[in-house]
Amino acid sequence: MIRPVAIVALVAALVGQASAVAAHSTDPLLGSTPWGQNQLVPYMWTANQVPPSWAASNIDLGAADSEASRASRAALFSRASSAASRIAYGGSNPCPSYGIACMNRTGVPVSFGMWFKAHGAVLDWGTLRWCQAQSVATNGCYDIRRVALDEFGHVEMLNHHENYADESDYLDAVVQYAGRSRPKDGWNAHVYGRCDVARLQLEYELLDSGDPVSTCLSLATSLTIAADPASIVAGAYTQITGELEIAVATAAKRLSGDPLSRRAITLQRRDLGSTTWVVVGTMGWVTGSAGSYVISVRPAASADYRLVYDASTSEGLRDATSAVVRVAVGIGTCSAKASKGAITRPVACL
Ligand SMILES: [Zn+2]
Repeated sequence: MIRPVAIVALVAALVGQASAVAAHSTDPLLGSTPWGQNQLVPYMWTANQVPPSWAASNIDLGAADSEASRASRAALFSRASSAASRIAYGGSNPCPSYGIACMNRTGVPVSFGMWFKAHGAVLDWGTLRWCQAQSVATNGCYDIRRVALDEFGHVEMLNHHENYADESDYLDAVVQYAGRSRPKDGWNAHVYGRCDVARLQLEYELLDSGDPVSTCLSLATSLTIAADPASIVAGAYTQITGELEIAVATAAKRLSGDPLSRRAITLQRRDLGSTTWVVVGTMGWVTGSAGSYVISVRPAASADYRLVYDASTSEGLRDATSAVVRVAVGIGTCSAKASKGAITRPVACL
């Protein structure tokens, strides 16, 4: 479903019409075509609809807010002297009669359009007042910087967040059907909410494999384990490695199968004949290899090993436990001579 034009603000009488769905769901999609990852998208003012300086500077700040808070490889917007994308203030526009701003993303991935109605415009619900146009902001005014962020969110690919009926989760998103005016909570939000970010991450991936996944998501993870060598003599070292990634799933969209770096993963051991797992240590992070973890151990006897990822509550990932590998410790002599003579792997008798 393509909705080329989306409005950002409505009269209070319409607040609460948005459907209530599952808790903290990600913003729905707007359109079906994303920009390229980290695509640079310049825009310019529409001729004869150039914003006054107070509006121009705040619309530009909205573009910068989008970049600073996207937490993903979503597109980057910045003003240029000449560009295919246009932003207009005042004058003719395709926005609905009650809307204070709107945009059109049907030109993605080439261009977009955006329109802001003028300060003082008389709409069917009253007179539009932009806070930044006032020497002293008055209640009921709209923060044009926040509205610009809402619009840039639409341009990215975000549709309006679906709030609880009581709107207790309203601050989870800036991209809202009914944008709030001063002084209601969220009226001057200048960073994407976590459920805006969640959708951006699903569609554009994380900036870096070590970055946190939005808590608006709850994605399963996958953890593998390997021991090399899996058979050693007593006194020798073996290296346990692991790979952590977002589990392959349609719902994870572009994050599906992506590596997860710099998480806390523990190695556990279960002695033969025992049912108890004990913590051996914390896995190290392999520099330059996204999602890879390593630890060296020197077991005294044969035992089973597994890796455990206990997901932090500060991000939207679920726990994972690896399969079990057995490290067999055989009878043998671990001599300095042997260790020097035939080392082909990063393990050694000491
Ligand atoms: Zn909107």
